[in-house]
Amino acid sequence: MEYNTFERCDRMDIFCKIINGEIPSYTIYEDEVVKVFLDVNPDVNGHTLIVPKKHILDIYDMDKETLNHIFEITKKIDKLLREKLKAEGLTLVQNNGLLQEVKHFHLHLKPQYSQKQTLKKVEDVYKELTN
Ligand SMILES: [Zn+2]
Repeated sequence: MEYNTFERCDRMDIFCKIINGEIPSYTIYEDEVVKVFLDVNPDVNGHTLIVPKKHILDIYDMDKETLNHIFEITKKIDKLLREKLKAEGLTLVQNNGLLQEVKHFHLHLKPQYSQKQTLKKVEDVYKELTN
C-alpha cells in the first residue's frame, strides 16, 4: 500500500508530527502503513501505540486493509513483548469519539504481567525491546 506525502502531512496532530519526524519517538517497528512506538506516559512497561501513517480519524474512518494490517502488526508486537519483556498477556484499548484525546487513530497495546511491575523509564524499555 502506498501513501503520498500529502496524505501523511495534511494534519498537525501529535501523531502526524511523530510520523513526519518532527517529534522524536521510541519507534520499535515501522512499515509503509504504520508506525509503532512506545507511549511516553505508559500505564505499564511496554505500553505501545500502533498508529496508521495515513491520517485516519477513528475506527469509523478506517478502511478494511489498514485495519487488517494493524491487527497483523499487533500480533507481531505481542510476540516481541512476550519475548523481550516476558509479558504474559495483552490488553488492547482504542477510543473513538468522546474519550479519544488525539484525533488520529491509535491502538494501545498494554502488555500484562503476573508479577507486579515497577514502572521503568521508557528509554530503558526501548533498549530492552530493540536489543
Ligand atoms: Zn494525524
